Amino acid sequence: MSLIAEIEAARDSLASIRRDIHAHPELAFQETRTSELVAQQLTKWGLEVHRGLGKTGVVGVLRGKKGPGGRSIGLRADMDALPMPENNRFAHASTNPGRMHGCGHDGHTTMLLGAAQHLAAHPDFDGTVNFIFQPAEEGGNAGARAMIEDGLFERFPCDEIYGMHNLPGYPTGLFGFRKGPTMASSNRFDIVVRGTGGHAAQPHKAVDTIVIAAEMVGVLQTLISRHKNPVETAVLSVTQIHAGDAYNVLPEQAVIRGTVRTFSTQILDEIEANMRRVAETLPQVHGGTGELDFYRAYPPLVNWDAQTDFAMQVARDVFGADKVDADTPPHGGAEDFSFYLQKVPGCYLFVGNGGGEHREAAYHGMGPCELHNPNYDFNDALLPIGSTYWVRLVQAFFARS
Ligand SMILES: [Zn+2]
Ligand SMILES: [Zn+2]
Repeated sequence: MSLIAEIEAARDSLASIRRDIHAHPELAFQETRTSELVAQQLTKWGLEVHRGLGKTGVVGVLRGKKGPGGRSIGLRADMDALPMPENNRFAHASTNPGRMHGCGHDGHTTMLLGAAQHLAAHPDFDGTVNFIFQPAEEGGNAGARAMIEDGLFERFPCDEIYGMHNLPGYPTGLFGFRKGPTMASSNRFDIVVRGTGGHAAQPHKAVDTIVIAAEMVGVLQTLISRHKNPVETAVLSVTQIHAGDAYNVLPEQAVIRGTVRTFSTQILDEIEANMRRVAETLPQVHGGTGELDFYRAYPPLVNWDAQTDFAMQVARDVFGADKVDADTPPHGGAEDFSFYLQKVPGCYLFVGNGGGEHREAAYHGMGPCELHNPNYDFNDALLPIGSTYWVRLVQAFFARS
């Protein structure tokens, strides 16, 4: 492992920034304090700072001093926290009740700040680095899309873009890469079944929406088991059924809700079309009607091959081949970095957060240290590792012919 000495020396100041952000978690599109902190630091280090993209997003622009600079690279961190309580009792635990940096975005933001500080002090490259601090990654809020819609790539063109997320349970500092589909698309649906309400003792005079809904749940599962190519991965889960209020009334309406996850847009298109057919025609068999409302939150995250090879080689060169996993399994979660990768070539990687040993005994909340868990904390040992990776990636990008 060869950390950049100056970044390693800044370890404590990076940790104090990270803990400050951790102590003040802010929800999607409300990251005013966090974005102010980011903008102040970037300004202090001499970057050109742009605010207000995607409401609370910040872009720091750094131009190298080594040439006219035709090429550009984007590095992205997310800034938002989660609407959940924190169990930890250490000094930097959340001071905002019901809000927590339970996904490590405090660490992602700090790692990127560390890289910005170093590169601003050593702008010996020919090109432009865009440091992208985005809001609202969590909960389907799509801060990435909001920044793109605010002209991110028109105002700050990026030839390539890179992202990173910590991964608990994975050895500390191990870099995990995957080419192609890496994280799932996230989608939600509502199906409304309409029939004819009536007396429970006279079902022949009604169109029973509960029987239709029950049958529909089973048919929806066959869209995965019988209609989808079995070598493709997809999940369809019904998570809510709402109908009826009485023991003796057949309700005239039933609502089915749930989620669909796929690693390919083509499979998603097929599943949505099949769901629409089932939702509209199955109730008709029984004399009712039905309709589907399908909402696509995040598309699948698909890493680009050449950019993944490049980022992987940088990690190998800097940290050693034993610190790189070239075949990390796909992750069933969703991530709005996928929106950037639909527009610009790039790669999103995972970096191991370790098994939770970094939390000081007796001061943490005990229990598992997983993402979105109330005992989670970002591992500060990753700060100089992540910052070093970002700096070396930028230097290798501009050194590339
Ligand atoms: Zn998360
Ligand atoms: Zn996250």
